[in-house]
Amino acid sequence: MQKSVKIEIDDDSGFCFGVVTAIGKAESELKDGNELYCLGDIVHNGEEIDRLAKMGLQVIDHADLSHLKNAKVLLRAHGEPPSTYKTALDNGITIVDATCPVVLRLQQKIRKAYEEHPDSEIVIYGKAGHAEVNGLVGQTKGTAKVVESLSDIDLIDFSRNILLFSQTTKSIDGYATLIEEIKKRKSKGTEFTAYDTICRQVSNRMGKIKQFAKSHDLVLFVGGAKSSNAKVLFEVCKQANHNSFFVSSTNDVQKEYLIGNIETIGICGATSTPKWQMEEIKRKLLTIIQSCIN
Ligand code: SF4
Repeated sequence: MQKSVKIEIDDDSGFCFGVVTAIGKAESELKDGNELYCLGDIVHNGEEIDRLAKMGLQVIDHADLSHLKNAKVLLRAHGEPPSTYKTALDNGITIVDATCPVVLRLQQKIRKAYEEHPDSEIVIYGKAGHAEVNGLVGQTKGTAKVVESLSDIDLIDFSRNILLFSQTTKSIDGYATLIEEIKKRKSKGTEFTAYDTICRQVSNRMGKIKQFAKSHDLVLFVGGAKSSNAKVLFEVCKQANHNSFFVSSTNDVQKEYLIGNIETIGICGATSTPKWQMEEIKRKLLTIIQSCIN
């Protein structure tokens, strides 16, 4: 490590507008002293969840929701299937709907496709079981096929017309590969339409974060272990700069990272990483650096 090390926090990292809005809605309910439940983790970041839990946000799952009566429940940016709204209505639950507008538009598109093309195969490129994907599949009464990668491609019925959508956080390259493979396999005389539904809040960050990672000697990527977006963006960092490490809290920051000729350190994160957490990591690094100098 050099005596003077520059540390830069990536301006383009941090919450996307969907997550900012969801957290803002939760904070404004909690500050009025209301009891508020959240269906699932509001963001895939353990430290931010702990912060909101201290303010009073209680995380519940779908089983809890079915027993809850006359309460207020926040639906996070990932969105929910129609069955969740039905349960809420039946149980007298007030919904604070923080579904991201980008996800909401995608849900509406899929529902329209399902209603207008009952004979077509609706395919969703996404992670099976992911909350957003569950919300999307719910628009088709559970009939859409979920394809996570090319290894799932045989799930698709190629004898039907195919309408393809993507989970908002999937990679553009992976989607393009799947589209090419479906074109090759589709049966003669059938139609295939692929809709561009990847959120640019995520995909635009890939190029930027690559440049950021390349411009530093050491990169600390801050993200939650459960975040798909964090995994994708960290891979981009790692490919651009092998000296990149994934940290979920200040406890993960190791002195050993600073071994070698380190002049600049970059701190970046996912769309689920709060700015305050990246600042905390910076403070921890400064403390380690100070202790090495003394
Ligand atoms: S990544 Fe995009 S779609 Fe997902 S919550 Fe953020 S803004 Fe909305």
